[in-house]
Amino acid sequence: MKIRLAKSAGFCYGVKRAVELAESAAQSGEPCVMLGYIIHNSDVVDHLARQGVKVVEDPDQVPEGYGVIIRSHGESRATYQRLEQRGAKILDATCPNVTRIHRIVAKAEEQGRQPVIIGTPNHPEVVAIAGWCRHPVVLPGADELEEWLREDENRKNLPLTFVSQTTSTRKIWDGCVKKAKKECTNAEFFDTICGATSKRQEEAHQFAAQCDKMVVIGDGKSSNTKRLAEICRESCPDVQLIERAADLDLSRLAQAEVVGITAGASTPAWIIKEVCDKMSDENMEIEKSFAEMLEESIKTLNTGDKVTGTVVAITPTEIQVDLGTKHAGYIPVSELTDDPTAKVEDLVKVGDEIETFVVRVNDQEGVVTLSKKRLDVVKGWEEIEAARENETVMEGVVTEDNKGGVVVSVKGIRVFVPASQTGLPRETPMNTLLKQKVRLIITEVNRARRRVVGSISRVLRAERAAAAEKVWAEIEPGKHYTGTVKSLTSYGAFVDIGGVDGMVHTS
Ligand code: SF4
Repeated sequence: MKIRLAKSAGFCYGVKRAVELAESAAQSGEPCVMLGYIIHNSDVVDHLARQGVKVVEDPDQVPEGYGVIIRSHGESRATYQRLEQRGAKILDATCPNVTRIHRIVAKAEEQGRQPVIIGTPNHPEVVAIAGWCRHPVVLPGADELEEWLREDENRKNLPLTFVSQTTSTRKIWDGCVKKAKKECTNAEFFDTICGATSKRQEEAHQFAAQCDKMVVIGDGKSSNTKRLAEICRESCPDVQLIERAADLDLSRLAQAEVVGITAGASTPAWIIKEVCDKMSDENMEIEKSFAEMLEESIKTLNTGDKVTGTVVAITPTEIQVDLGTKHAGYIPVSELTDDPTAKVEDLVKVGDEIETFVVRVNDQEGVVTLSKKRLDVVKGWEEIEAARENETVMEGVVTEDNKGGVVVSVKGIRVFVPASQTGLPRETPMNTLLKQKVRLIITEVNRARRRVVGSISRVLRAERAAAAEKVWAEIEPGKHYTGTVKSLTSYGAFVDIGGVDGMVHTS
């Protein structure tokens, strides 16, 4: 029997960050409490309580002089204000994905828009998001949205800003977007479903289909874990949902050839390890050691690192990348490419593997800012130097113009093309080339001075010469040719036939 462990089993980066923050608070020796369960896992909460970090349910229960950890689901603006009034030191473990939603809804209201939160009304994350608006509207799905719009026809013309609970399903969100697009005249949408969650669910679906039996580990109260088990049941006939190793029924695994293990986003590594160990004790062979997988997930990141991740979500302003570490990776759209004509959807898709450059690591917020275009620039220099060497024709987009010529962005590198090399007739304004895709030859590279010079006209000349050669090879007396009159003289007209000069006598 083979045991396979799902790649994304266990803590997501938001939960990992929250638990690490609480553990380091406990180890610091400073008195501290957590406001509500830091994550949906009672083993983790008990473990922290044993280290001295107890749970309080209300800001007013925070003892004087104590620090307070805000859980990964986040809290309302009023709760932060209450804690500040009490002078409590706030250790904010809100998942960066959730903080982002707080900012979106707060800004929408500032701009006079009506935030509409698609999610389960009493879920702590949704309650906290609603707490960043003065007049929130919370709707579980498309049916409730329809009803809300029907109650007052004027609502269809309100400026509406839609966001989603991070753990909502794509089906619910897409249903609401479809309805709002059809009915509302001024709606904007922020797809805030957590990419880590959808990736885990998709992976679980495919992974379970390859296994005879599945074991899903997680707290019975975690909706995320229960959903994961439901998804596994869609493609695997026998799924055990357990909280810890003691719950595992080994007899149910007998006769299986492949047993898969996955775990909810709030399941700690030690519980997964206990389950793996219990199986190993029964001589079941584990494909990849749990320690190996854990090692991969806790690697640290530094500015300047090259990292590969998977695109998990794309919004109008950024691309969310799962790096398989405790950080949330974001590529601002401005850091995706230098090509002003490029469309985000043509460059990246959800599920793509993407190589990026680490611009900034914010350990406190658990966020890494990434750039694809800066990595492209490093690679671009190598390609430009090779192109100069081999006289390879390169493609780029004209991004600037001036009296002296134009600047072309080639692989993220600025290449200057002097006016005489643009291929434009004299007196033609340089800006006619702006935003155009052009082909050029690199004629000079000085990487130290970051100077690159190119020529468009050399490519045009070479292309014309090649076309003329082709016409010459095929030209025959008696055949019909179409050309452009270049000049007239007293004895006839000069005609250009695909790069070959022809002469039509007056006679
Ligand atoms: S599931 Fe997503 S949103 Fe929730 S804590 Fe984890 S990373 Fe954050």
